[in-house]
Parts: sequence; structure tokens; C-alpha cells
Amino acid sequence: MLKQWTYVEVEQIYQQAMTELVFQAQSIHRQHFNNHEIEPCVLLSIKTGACPEDCKYCSQSGHYKTALEKEKLLDKEAILNKAREAKESGAKRFCMGAAWRSPPEKEMENLQDIIKSVKALGLETCVTLGMLNANQAKQLKDAGLDYYNHNLDTSKAHYPKVITTRTYQDRIDTLNHVANAGLKTCCGGILGLGETKEDRINFLLELSQLDKLPESIPINNLIRIAGTPLGDAKVIDNIEIVRVIATARIMFPQAMIRLSAGRKNMSDEMHAMCFMAGANSIFLGDKLLTAENAGDNRDQLLMAKLGLSLETA
Ligand code: SF4
Repeated sequence: MLKQWTYVEVEQIYQQAMTELVFQAQSIHRQHFNNHEIEPCVLLSIKTGACPEDCKYCSQSGHYKTALEKEKLLDKEAILNKAREAKESGAKRFCMGAAWRSPPEKEMENLQDIIKSVKALGLETCVTLGMLNANQAKQLKDAGLDYYNHNLDTSKAHYPKVITTRTYQDRIDTLNHVANAGLKTCCGGILGLGETKEDRINFLLELSQLDKLPESIPINNLIRIAGTPLGDAKVIDNIEIVRVIATARIMFPQAMIRLSAGRKNMSDEMHAMCFMAGANSIFLGDKLLTAENAGDNRDQLLMAKLGLSLETA
């Protein structure tokens, strides 16, 4: 029987002394994972920009003027070349993102073919294509897809201040279709969207109340994009990020916790804190969808310095 968390319980974990919080998180982490291993993934934008949604943090939204160059859906060969490169760089999972409200029906067959072909390279697959209906979720499962990414982003209360073109319930509906189709769920959030500490606690609580717990939880640190409404948002304190990661590790002991966007400007010490708190996956490469990422060279040096290893495919 799954534990039903209360706000007070989550708050008590989140707020406790940092030494105790990280100790608890690391102790739980070691019961379920090899604490020396970090899972490497690669994320490619397969269709970029001109998105009809109005997510206030996103360079790809058609509602804002950003420096982003739009790109139509890449063809299969271009995607497979990137997937091969990802495999050579040591990635275990290849994630593909498209800036759509929902995947167009006319592209479903093509998307199924792309997923099958990436899987045939021996990579796990994850896609993020926007909202899905039940049939689309099943089609992706039939193609062999492993994970579907759809984030809650933030707390239910803060959500309407960040996105107005689709509701929090729309997100839950897609997550339910994903779970019902038998796909694994990748679902997390973004920190630094102007949310309060209570929002961060509620976000974790609401994640634990999904019908099916996510197998993968990306925690993103907002990359402030010029031209978006959150382009000059107040930078979140690093300690809050570590608290979210550690609390997530304690609440979701078996999930992969992905330290996702916002690593480029994170110090080595901050990376070390996040890994001690239970983060155990990163995205490799110089780009994360359309934003700058840490880069393989830096990650290799970082892993060597911390005595950690990237799990190989
Ligand atoms: S986050 Fe996704 S859905 Fe929102 S605007 Fe960006 S691409 Fe579109």
C-alpha cells in the first residue's frame, strides 16, 4: 500500500536541518541505487518553437519574442544520427521533445516509426509531445516507447500564474492516459517560477498523489530566457533546490531523480550537494532542448573529480 503523505509530513521533512535531510535522503538512496552511479541521458528537440501554449518560462512558446529559431519536425535520419551520437557518448536513454500542444494525428505513424528505430539502436526511449489522448498513449506504447515525459511544473495553486492555455487537470488527464497505456511516467517540475516554499512542498505532495507514481522525476532550475515573462525572475536559492531533491528522494525512493535544466551555471559543489541529496541522473551534451547545457567535457571532469561514474548504455 502506497504511503499517503500529508502536507505537514512533507513540510517536516523539507524544513529539517540540512545535515539531517541530506543524511536521510542519502541513506534511502543507498537502499535502492548504487550511490556511485549517475545515469546519463540525452534530450533532443525534434520540433522546435511556434508552440501554441503560453508557458511563461519557455523559449518555444509562440506567445513571446525570443531569439529561438523555429524548426519543423526533423526527419527520421537526422534524429537517428543524433541518437547514434548519444549512444556513442554513453547515453542510456534518448529523449525527444516536440513543441506541440498535442502531437498531430497525421504524425503519429511517423513518430511510432522514429521510436521503433531509436529503440533498435539499443537505447531506452522517452518522448515529450504535449497532451495525449488515450489512443495516442496506446499508439506510443505499441511502438515500444519506454517513458513519456509530462511535467506538473509547479503546484496546482501556482500553476495558473505560469500557464493559462491548459489546465492542471489537463496535465493529470494526460498522465493518467500514459499510466493506463502501461508507459513509464517521467514527471517533475521547474524551480524558480516565482513560487513560494509552500508551492514547492505542495508540488511534491501533488506528485505523490498521482494515480501512478512517476518512475522518473526531472527537477529543473529555471533558465531565464530573455523575451519570456519569467526572463527576469528572481533566482532561487540553491539550498531550496537541494531541499526539493532530498525531499523527493525520501518520498519517491525508487524513482530516478534527474538534475535537469539549469546545470550550466551550477558549481561543482552544488552538483555534489544534489548528488548527495539523491539526484542520480543528468542530461549530457551542450544543449537541453533549446537551452545551453553543461557539456560532456565538463561532466567528464566533474564525474572524475567527484569519484562518480556515468552508467554506460
Ligand atoms: S513548455 Fe512545452 S508546451 Fe509549454 S510553451 Fe514550451 S514547448 Fe510549448
